[in-house]
Amino acid sequence: MHALHEHGNGHGHGNGHGNGHESSRGSRTRRAALPAVAAAVAAVSLALLLPAPPAHAFLPENHTAITRQALASWEGASLGQFADGRDGAIGANDKRPYFDLGFLHCDNADFLDTPGYPRSREQANDEIIACVRSSVVRFRSAVAAADGLVDADGKVIPGANDLSEPCAWDEDPGRAKCAVYEQLGRGWHQIEDFYSHSNWSDRADSGPVGIDNPPGLARTTVTDLFRIRTWAGLKGDDWIPTVRALVPRDLTTGCYPDLDSTGSQAPRSCPGRVRHDGVLAKDGENVARARVDDNFRHAFDLAVADITRQWDDFRAELRATYPDHRRGEQMICALTHDDPVHACP
Ligand SMILES: [Zn+2]
Repeated sequence: MHALHEHGNGHGHGNGHGNGHESSRGSRTRRAALPAVAAAVAAVSLALLLPAPPAHAFLPENHTAITRQALASWEGASLGQFADGRDGAIGANDKRPYFDLGFLHCDNADFLDTPGYPRSREQANDEIIACVRSSVVRFRSAVAAADGLVDADGKVIPGANDLSEPCAWDEDPGRAKCAVYEQLGRGWHQIEDFYSHSNWSDRADSGPVGIDNPPGLARTTVTDLFRIRTWAGLKGDDWIPTVRALVPRDLTTGCYPDLDSTGSQAPRSCPGRVRHDGVLAKDGENVARARVDDNFRHAFDLAVADITRQWDDFRAELRATYPDHRRGEQMICALTHDDPVHACP
């Protein structure tokens, strides 16, 4: 069985705006960060007049399983909206145009410590930073969006929490519960992908190490690179030097023919580089790298552990940001219950 899947939502071109700001360089304020990402997405969407590439994410059913396992305490309809790897918030980055932005899947941070490798460690680090940044920006936006879930006294606002119609993952604030889900889902997808797409938790095959068999780091705990709540609590991009220093020299993700953070696209075959397809990705269980030393299971389990951490950290942030009238606690109740008006009095 091939580890490929379809992408449901056609193409995102033609949404009007041409030259968005560069998405990933320079400092910016919290307020400016989200529009900048949206502008970059709009700009990129125009550039993508390409045939559909193969998939590059944990398969939708694996995103679903990871997310459901991490958020097992949520009630069913809410969990269904959030955790569905195909149509839920966690899968929203796998729809175009987001699908084609490599940093939303932690792609293209490929590096092999060998003379003449076509990418530098610094370039690879830039892609890791862009990946982490996309999650930091979403975390801040999710905390802000949660303010709309409950009123000033901590009472659940019915309309803002109504899920009788499915959420649309369209960056429109709309219902607050959908908005929080969208921000969290778009910020966590790449964290799940990281464990599939990198060598963080896996091992190389026996035989010589090279671009077709990169080293594995065999880590057994979640990465400090995604201490998102900590990074989001710092001003602007002040977290970047710390994250840069945390990147292990032998960390690699895979080259994939989508857009990197500078807006350039690798050739389809990624000549001379550690590739995503057929080399490093463990999106499903039936690819070579996934079968080495239970690599798929290790990636899956750490993805669950990391989303568990992210949810814990997000809840802690809501409690800290909205202490009055237990508003933060009420927000958490609203996000996890299907009928919060009655379940969260
Ligand atoms: Zn992905």
